[in-house]
Amino acid sequence: MLFLAFLGLLKCASCGCSITAEIQKGHHYYHCTKKKGLCQEKHFLREEALTEQIKTFLQKVSLSSQDTKKVFAELQKDEGRAKEEAKTTVQNLKLELAEIEAKLEKLLDAYLGEVISDTDYKARKDKLLTQKVELGERIRDFEQKGLSWLEPAREFVLSLNQAANLVKSGNKAEMTTFLKTIGSNHVLENRQFFFAPKIQYELVAERSEAALQNLQFPYWCVGEDSNLRSPKALDLQSSAIDRSATHASILS
Ligand SMILES: [Zn+2]
Repeated sequence: MLFLAFLGLLKCASCGCSITAEIQKGHHYYHCTKKKGLCQEKHFLREEALTEQIKTFLQKVSLSSQDTKKVFAELQKDEGRAKEEAKTTVQNLKLELAEIEAKLEKLLDAYLGEVISDTDYKARKDKLLTQKVELGERIRDFEQKGLSWLEPAREFVLSLNQAANLVKSGNKAEMTTFLKTIGSNHVLENRQFFFAPKIQYELVAERSEAALQNLQFPYWCVGEDSNLRSPKALDLQSSAIDRSATHASILS
């Protein structure tokens, strides 16, 4: 059976039709199906050339296994620190909660002792109850979601390592799956492969290009400490990249 690794991945940049492939003299050639009629794309692209272009991109978002281990070790340390911090925060919030509950009780006593009026009691009680609910929510947030940035960060780092492994193995079917996972809009235009990587991959690729141009060491050498421990860092674009940036000072 004919196996064309990149079939189903690409569209023609010119007319939007699918890119198909055929075998000529033992080589696989990719080209526009031209199902919508006329198309400006007359070119055929050999699979080897396409593979090279894809590998060039993969190289830019590659993280070696050795570096991946180091980044993971750092993530683990951060996880430990973040857990400690979350624990302290939760303890403090619980103290505040206890204070509010004490206030509510005093307020009730004052009301029952007829020290304050109905209206006064209700107004103060409502205010305290609102605070109580808010505190309860914050405590739940810290207990449940406090570390939710970690898993996406790990997955991202792992995918960078997968890119490195794909460059090594040259497994084209897996490259297709990988490219679909990390981006969209894969096209061929004038024998060139283009696609829209998800922002975090695009940023990594850009840093990598900049590093190459400056003949510097990889992108993760650049960068100061990041602020990943904040739950705001859920946003992977900055987090995982800054994360790798952070670790890299250690890597070099
Ligand atoms: Zn076309």
